[in-house]
Amino acid sequence: MALRQATAYALRTRPLGEADLIVELFTRERGRIRGVARSARRIKSRFGSAFEPFTLSRMVYFQRDKDDLGRISSCEIERSYFETLAGLEEAAAAAYMAELVMGFSPEHDPSEPLFRLIGATLGGIEAGMPIELVLRYFELWVLRLAGLLPGLGTCGHCGRSMGNDAWLADTSLEFICGRSCGDTIGRRRLNPGARQLMLSMLRHSPAQLVADQEPTPQAVGALGSITEMLVCGHLDRMPRSLRYMRQLKRHLRAG
Ligand SMILES: [Zn+2]
Repeated sequence: MALRQATAYALRTRPLGEADLIVELFTRERGRIRGVARSARRIKSRFGSAFEPFTLSRMVYFQRDKDDLGRISSCEIERSYFETLAGLEEAAAAAYMAELVMGFSPEHDPSEPLFRLIGATLGGIEAGMPIELVLRYFELWVLRLAGLLPGLGTCGHCGRSMGNDAWLADTSLEFICGRSCGDTIGRRRLNPGARQLMLSMLRHSPAQLVADQEPTPQAVGALGSITEMLVCGHLDRMPRSLRYMRQLKRHLRAG
């Protein structure tokens, strides 16, 4: 049995037996892993709040091999986002971020850029950036790091240089040119505001993004319909946390 150390963000937990937890984490050293935390549900657990969403900790765990569900021995909290993610919207956003990491990052596949993206995104929420803007940034980069963000250079259908008129095709999940390219496939337009925001997000950190001028809610919303189509298309379902977030938003707006 190998004793390992890792710096990890907690993603999600589920109960195991009477007092234990199965914890999903994203580690800097080994990518996404799962482990059992014995007695973590007892009131005086030695893990404290280490498994609250996106708590960053230095952990020690045992694991026989890749297929083995590891056993978490100890966690030392380096950074907690408990306060930052305590609000309804923030908590829902964190659940969605965790679902994206679980959906787009294979187990045992380390990614320094993804690890840093998580930190930068949490930093954006902490700095009070609009949640929708932060989430669009996170979606875009998770897709890109997974190699699933289609390019804007040439049309995914005819191969011609695309220009400004780009549409996302719902079957190939690629950008195609103009209204007339492709056959009868469903498509959604990447409008100029969304296109500009997308390009800017791929060049800048969340902090730089709002440094000059904060993107308009219209552009953020338009980009959201594009990223949603990509996320749901590639996962082949709508993430539960995304559906919940939609309901929450409607509810808050109505209230
Ligand atoms: Zn074309």
